[in-house]
Amino acid sequence: MPVADPIANLQTLIRCPSVTPAEGGALAALEAMLLPLGFKVERMVATEPGMPDIENLYARLGTDGPHLMFAGHTDVVPPGDETSWSQPPFAAEIVGGELFGRGAVDMKGGIACFVAAVARNIEQHGAPKGSISFLITGDEEGPAVNGTEKLLKWATEKGETWDACLVGEPTNPDVLGDMIKIGRRGSVSGKVTVFGVQGHAAYPHLADNPVRGLLPLASSLMDPPFDGGTPEFPASNLEVTSIDVGNPATNVIPAKASFAFNIRFNDTWTADTVKAEIVRRLNEAAVKSPLRPDRDPARYEITWAERPSHVFLTRNNALIASLSGAVESVTGKVPKLSTTGGTSDARFIKDYCPVVEFGLVGQTMHMIDERVALADLETLTQIYGTFISRWFDNALLS
Ligand SMILES: [Zn+2]
Repeated sequence: MPVADPIANLQTLIRCPSVTPAEGGALAALEAMLLPLGFKVERMVATEPGMPDIENLYARLGTDGPHLMFAGHTDVVPPGDETSWSQPPFAAEIVGGELFGRGAVDMKGGIACFVAAVARNIEQHGAPKGSISFLITGDEEGPAVNGTEKLLKWATEKGETWDACLVGEPTNPDVLGDMIKIGRRGSVSGKVTVFGVQGHAAYPHLADNPVRGLLPLASSLMDPPFDGGTPEFPASNLEVTSIDVGNPATNVIPAKASFAFNIRFNDTWTADTVKAEIVRRLNEAAVKSPLRPDRDPARYEITWAERPSHVFLTRNNALIASLSGAVESVTGKVPKLSTTGGTSDARFIKDYCPVVEFGLVGQTMHMIDERVALADLETLTQIYGTFISRWFDNALLS
């Protein structure tokens, strides 16, 4: 059967230099893999003023439910210094049992394996008893504005609904079978600017140094902890990511000072309640810490980064059990169910259907010499194939 070999599929995809926002031929190559399997393939171009147009792909096999979606992206991060690679980043060379190339694990490898798994399942059991779709964006590694979010909306407006989704991002820290992601923390970023009065460093009584206010305000966000974690999530954590005064003079008290922060929060919070808690802490610290003992509370302003990432946790036991059972039956390992790591496009999909994530070992993602063991490609294909069978068996029973 064509495209039943994940290694060949991945080589084809890696040889398409699809650095965000370029399509690079990757979606065309995927379309060419899916058409012979019977998929109806649509290419959707998303646009946004001031941003590059992005090509996306939606493909569906079957017309009835239950409906399983596989989601991912064909875009990749830039290769960096190509001369530092031991193999060219878009050549897909195999050396020592490993396939080298940008996107090998994040996440053309996951797509290559899922295509192969579907092909093998069709060969062995015929067409699925329901529908399988691919929802693939070219805008995950970039701003993610013209990608999964718009593609989901577009497909929904055409009447598409899904019962479950598997995202093929690399989820395993060390070995294939380590970890399934069943949720993700939320993320909110912001910037606090503290205002003072500029003046001569030798005449502080005539000035108001905003740095004196900035320090307690920043500290108030780092301590005490926001929470102690939940059974499914680690404790929420805020990091001050930058402190900026931009004052080159040693004898000038600056007029303002600012700091930036990012918080990764668990399901104790929503984006709105965590923002409210941040403002509460800042107000409290500002009142407690006037710039000088005889002065008014520190004056500050907060600006929030656009589009927070919302926290989510998938509680669909049939979906999780199908995937976890497939991992265990192929690898012998019971995967950890985790909510760690950065955000992913699953944050958009969770509004449409239950979503879990499982893919390759993430160790070399975004690095020079990104690569994947050929054995892992075969194993992941078997896991995906077993998952597909089990998920449809479960869904048809219930
Ligand atoms: Zn990725």
